[in-house]
Amino acid sequence: MQFKDIEGQLVLINRLTEIIDSGRVSHAQMFLGPTSSGSLALAIAYAQYLNCENRQHYGEGSELRADSCGQCPNCRKYEELMHSDLHFVFPSATTSTVTSKPSSEDFQEEFRDFLTECRQKGTEDEWYARLGVENKQGMIREKDADNIVRTLALKSYEGGYKVVVMWMAERMNLDAANKLLKTLEEPTDKTLLLLVAESRDRMLSTIISRVQQVVVPDLGMGLPEERRAEFARLFVSWMRLLFKLDMKPLSEWVDQTATIGRESQKRFLQYVQESLRACFLKTAAGIELPGELVFDDEKFDTFFPTMITVRNIEQMNQAITDATYAIERNANAKITFMQLSFTMSKLIKNR
Ligand SMILES: [Zn+2]
Repeated sequence: MQFKDIEGQLVLINRLTEIIDSGRVSHAQMFLGPTSSGSLALAIAYAQYLNCENRQHYGEGSELRADSCGQCPNCRKYEELMHSDLHFVFPSATTSTVTSKPSSEDFQEEFRDFLTECRQKGTEDEWYARLGVENKQGMIREKDADNIVRTLALKSYEGGYKVVVMWMAERMNLDAANKLLKTLEEPTDKTLLLLVAESRDRMLSTIISRVQQVVVPDLGMGLPEERRAEFARLFVSWMRLLFKLDMKPLSEWVDQTATIGRESQKRFLQYVQESLRACFLKTAAGIELPGELVFDDEKFDTFFPTMITVRNIEQMNQAITDATYAIERNANAKITFMQLSFTMSKLIKNR
């Protein structure tokens, strides 16, 4: 996977190639974001660029500052996902053919096919459907962690970086996570462990504190244009109401939102999380809001991001995650959104 084939993540890609070129590659990193927005594809492209023998640098005026060549022996093996120093770990479950103690080792070929066919953007559900285990929850187990430890301790076959890409790292169970801690703390030379996770909230803090995080903005690609515009309007009006905390219009907003249905409410909350994350990146790192997340309200686009800071982003994220869980569990939507409004109002003012 070359960076040029990944849609809409230019700012992040340029930052990543700059880091690699400067030789400041951290041995354990976590790419955090939905697979659909390219988090897994980015991790693979990152490893390919790192191992490319002929990195391409483009001059000024080019949007992409650099990319792997796609032609050298390492790149070609990476494109086929068949490089002997590239390993994949992912959730697995017992199937009709693997009836006990499953691990990623048992499904390497299926996983590579899955990556190729879904252009490295397939969802977790799609993966389970391919394994034929739709009703089971896959897991990354101790056996997987043992394999990682062993793989990273061996000498690299081709002289470059040895890379393990772990997809859906939040599916690691406690035994697996504990096994990995030592590897995370005392890495061997020229090894790279790339965790790809969709949700930080389900990751153990002992893991989070030992990896460098790369936040992959969700570009809302899964959302049709009309829907996005509707969510943007709903979001902007909500945030304005939270500032004033004017009860009458706020309870009207809550009433209206309570009628859009649970699935839409969940999608909306996800959109809110993505928007806040983008706003935070703008405030903290000067990264412009992605086109898909501009709210089409000049005053709001300029002013609102400054309200989202390191002092409130984490708690806001948590409050929205809690509300999403409540809605999944069929909690009363009006009460959930009203409580969330109070929490968010407090957090926004506490920037
Ligand atoms: Zn190359």
